[in-house]
Amino acid sequence: MTVVQLRYQFRVYPTPRQQIELARAFGCARVVFNDGLRLRRQAREAGEKYISDGELSRQIITEAKLTPQRAWLGEVSAVVLQQALADLNTAYRNFFASVTGNRKGRKIAPPRLRSRKDNRQAIRFTRNSRFKVLDNGRLRLPKIGDLAVRWSRTLPSDPSSVAIIKDAAGRYFASFVVQASQDETLPPVDSEIGIDLGLTHFAVMSDGTKITAPKFLRRAARKLKRLQQDLSRKQRGSQNRKKAVVKVARAHARVADTRRDWQHKLSTAIIRENQAIYVEDLCVVGLGRTRLATSVHDACWASFTAMLEYKAARYRRTFGRVDRFFPSTRMCSQCGRINEKMALNVRAWDCPCGAAHDRDVNAALNVLAAGQADNGNDRGAQVRPGLVPAPRGEAVTHPDAACSTRSVEGISAL
Ligand SMILES: [Zn+2]
Repeated sequence: MTVVQLRYQFRVYPTPRQQIELARAFGCARVVFNDGLRLRRQAREAGEKYISDGELSRQIITEAKLTPQRAWLGEVSAVVLQQALADLNTAYRNFFASVTGNRKGRKIAPPRLRSRKDNRQAIRFTRNSRFKVLDNGRLRLPKIGDLAVRWSRTLPSDPSSVAIIKDAAGRYFASFVVQASQDETLPPVDSEIGIDLGLTHFAVMSDGTKITAPKFLRRAARKLKRLQQDLSRKQRGSQNRKKAVVKVARAHARVADTRRDWQHKLSTAIIRENQAIYVEDLCVVGLGRTRLATSVHDACWASFTAMLEYKAARYRRTFGRVDRFFPSTRMCSQCGRINEKMALNVRAWDCPCGAAHDRDVNAALNVLAAGQADNGNDRGAQVRPGLVPAPRGEAVTHPDAACSTRSVEGISAL
């Protein structure tokens, strides 16, 4: 039986006193992270070898606590500090794997310093920190206290870790990681689907279904834009600016929540109705830097495909990302011929083989065929003998190598 990791997020309501303790813990975690990063950068500039995880922990936590400059690190849970360093180590590992080509997808930038002004502050407690969900429903955290939690559902089993997050709108969340055995299954179905994530539509499916982002989301996005314009007109450092910042953050949070709900419904429906789901592996951040930025960010595909991925794992469906190294848009899904480049406003085209294509549905059909081929399922290839998609992991220089690690929007998947 496979074990999957599920994330459950709930709103928490710390008291003013607990907010102070949390702020202290966020601060200490940030300092440890930044100290570690600086030390490794210095070692690198001095031409010394990479400082091991254990050595870094000794210098940045254990020994630092003994110095007057860092003695206050002792005031927060040691696990919080270790987990901050663990984040740094993971960031480095991802960066190295990306540089050496062991990691697929977009390029990862080296870790960067964390700031007090970051939109999201977070700390993590693991099981050995002895955090505990009490019988009265409160969440006990070492050196913080018992937090009130709004439980919107029950945890399926004991959580292995919990992260406490403060978002830009000043809201607090507890995000639990739970190991669950994969016992939830859906009845198997025959259909398999390819999804093209587009700009004119949120998603277009190989069966011809086109999904537009709902009106309420677009309306909320327009309101957000207006609030942002208001903000840009306020004087730096003024009290009015501070108020406007909070307004924008609240509006952002509302849009993110609404979008997440909508994406949950959509992704669940897709998983339910299809046995295999294939999407393009897009470099969304790369696209996000272009003129199309707003619509791309708004569409927020990254969190959507992440939902599809974990729900597929949970319900034993097949999920595959198809590398976008083949021209899914201008390749004919009937004969495999690669046609001329098309402008973005060309919505339909005819192939010399006689096939008439809707641009996005054709792309989705190609994604489906490529996904099936990747998956060792040659059904797609039999139907379309001319189609030879680039194999996964082929050494192709990604056009978006300049992508930063900035995610499209820091929305966690559940
Ligand atoms: Zn054709």
